[in-house]
Amino acid sequence: MENQRGKGLSFARRIYWPRIIGLSIGGISVLAAIYPLAPPDWVWALLLFNGLIWPHLAYQLSTRSGFPYRAERRNLLYDSLLGGFWAATMQFNPLPAVTILSMMCMNNVAAGGLRLFIRGGLAQCAGILLSWALFGAAFSTQISPLQIYACLPMLTLYPLAVGMVCYRLAIKLSEHKRALSALSRTDSLTGLLNHGSWKDLLHIKFHKCQQQQMEASIALIDIDHFKAINDTYGHIVGDTVLRHLSNELRRNLRHDDLAGRYGGDEFCVILPRMSRQQALDVMERLRQVFNQYQHPEVQELKVSLSIGLAAFDSSFPDPASWLDAADKALYLAKNNGRNRTASNDSEAHFSHAQMA
Ligand code: GH3
Ligand code: MG
Repeated sequence: MENQRGKGLSFARRIYWPRIIGLSIGGISVLAAIYPLAPPDWVWALLLFNGLIWPHLAYQLSTRSGFPYRAERRNLLYDSLLGGFWAATMQFNPLPAVTILSMMCMNNVAAGGLRLFIRGGLAQCAGILLSWALFGAAFSTQISPLQIYACLPMLTLYPLAVGMVCYRLAIKLSEHKRALSALSRTDSLTGLLNHGSWKDLLHIKFHKCQQQQMEASIALIDIDHFKAINDTYGHIVGDTVLRHLSNELRRNLRHDDLAGRYGGDEFCVILPRMSRQQALDVMERLRQVFNQYQHPEVQELKVSLSIGLAAFDSSFPDPASWLDAADKALYLAKNNGRNRTASNDSEAHFSHAQMA
């Protein structure tokens, strides 16, 4: 409901300035067209109201409404009703009448598509009938140079204003699209890549390593006894530990290393252009730094990591087997007592001894 109201408010705000510009300069073309017809005073008062007061009143009506979007669409129909009224009152003087009616149609199509265009057309017809009921149906084909000049601001400035609104809307849409796409690739708790997007990148890096004989390593990182941390200190402390690990990953990795949250308390990293030994050194440093963590409110909390590392090997048939090698190394690190880094090194399953 709040979201709907917010959307309605921004719709009303988007229309506010174009309406001020459109109705004030449109008023000039109507004024020039009806002046020779010497209409009664109340028609002048209505023109003044429509050109100068109505845009602000319409804005207040929609922004104060419980349903701003609906109120603003109603305002657009009032615009059309009055547009039809002025076109008939100026006896369909060709240039100003077509200018006003077509600009209003453009508005309605831009704001509400075919549906609002049709409803706006009906409102214009109602305005025409109202004018005919008051003044009788009349048509004039006479147009003076002054009346032509009076239409020029509307013909030039108003499309500019509407074009500007559409352009700003398009920019906003592309920003939202970019933000949404980033969100769909991000883990909400840690801000790292989520499982799906990390795996997509793993596929890309795997094929790059295959084609370019590039060195690279991947690592699966798991917090030891994380369930016990949650059970003992609560999930909020658990979340803080997860966030802390993601921050350490950011701090300790290079710009083009790719860190993600694999799920739960498991994290994953791709280290492109890194030999097994270099990757082991980086992961060992991370393990030791994380080991030093001190929670500000839970002094006794001790944390440690088990890390499974797999260097790329051209014998891997697919990315899944590379990942599987890292998973096996992680299993080894867990089984050998946790708080250590193990790799898929064929011989001895290299494992760093516990250092902390
Ligand atoms: P091990 O040393 O073998 O890794 O044991 P563990 O307790 O760390 O592993 P286990 O897989 O048993 O537990 C992981 C826990 O992580 C269980 C789950 O409740 C918790 N968890 C998963 N996602 C979140 C999260 O977003 N926040 C918090 N606080 N806990 C989470
Ligand atoms: Mg764990």
